[in-house]
Amino acid sequence: MVGFCEARRRGGAWLVRIDDADRQRCRQTHADSILRTLETHGLWWDEAVLFQSRRDEIYRVALERLAAGSRVFPCTCPRRELAGSGPIYSGRCRARYPRPPAGEHALRLRVGDAVIGFDDRLQGRIEQDLGSAVGDFVVRRRDGLPAYHLATVIDDAEQRVTEVLRGVDLLDSTPRQILLQQCLGLPRPDYCHIPVLTDRGGIKLSKQAGARPVDADAPSENLWTVLALLGFVPEPALIGAKPAEILDWAVAHWDIRRLPPGRRIDVGGLAV
Ligand SMILES: [Zn+2]
Repeated sequence: MVGFCEARRRGGAWLVRIDDADRQRCRQTHADSILRTLETHGLWWDEAVLFQSRRDEIYRVALERLAAGSRVFPCTCPRRELAGSGPIYSGRCRARYPRPPAGEHALRLRVGDAVIGFDDRLQGRIEQDLGSAVGDFVVRRRDGLPAYHLATVIDDAEQRVTEVLRGVDLLDSTPRQILLQQCLGLPRPDYCHIPVLTDRGGIKLSKQAGARPVDADAPSENLWTVLALLGFVPEPALIGAKPAEILDWAVAHWDIRRLPPGRRIDVGGLAV
C-alpha cells in the first residue's frame, strides 16, 4: 500500500511482480490469492503482472554472461557445512574447480573487495563491505533456480523500475543487488526502505511468523487500519467508504516523509 500511494502521488506507475521462481514454494493458487487480495482492496496495478516462474531463459542468459566474465564460480559446499560457518561464506570453493563439477552445484558471485554505498530515501547513507559482511553470495541455487537477488535485479531493469520501495528488512541485501547491477550493466534504481510492521516482540508480521491472513471481507477496515499505523488517519466521513475512496484520500494526503521514524512499527494487539 505504501508503494501504491507513493507511486500514485508522484504520478508514477505501480507495478506488481510475483516472486514465484521457486515453484515448489509458490503455487499458482497462492499468486491468484495475492492478486485477488490486491483487487479487493482497490490496489490496482498499472502494467501486466510479471511472473518470475516464466522467465527462466532470461535468468539463464544473465548467468551465462556472469560466467563468461569469470564473475561466478561453482560451489559444492553441502548445506550443513555452510550452516556451521556463520552467515559469511568462507570462500572454500573459490579456486577449487578449474572446470565446473559434474554434480549439483550452486554458483556464487565473486565479491572481491567491493564496498557498495547508496543513499536511501528514508534510511540515509548505507555502506557495506560485501567481502566482510556477506562474502561471495549465491546467484544460482543448487537446484538450478536463480537466486532471489539475481531475479530481482533483472526484473527491476526489465520493468524499468526507477524506485524500489520495500521493507527495511531487505536493506542489507540491497548492496548485493547493486553489485549485480554493476556486473550486468543494469541501471540502478533509487531505494527507499520503509519500516516493517512487527508484533510486540519485534518480529515482522508474516505468514511464516503466524500472522493471520488479511480478511478479504473487510477491505475498507484493513486499509483504514494500515493507514492509521502509518500515521495517516482518514477523515471520519470516510467511515464505511469503499476502498477506492479511502485510497483516493490516502494518495491526496500522502507524504512518505511522514511515515513513523525508525525501522519498526509495533502493531501490538491491533487486528491487521
Ligand atoms: Zn563452496
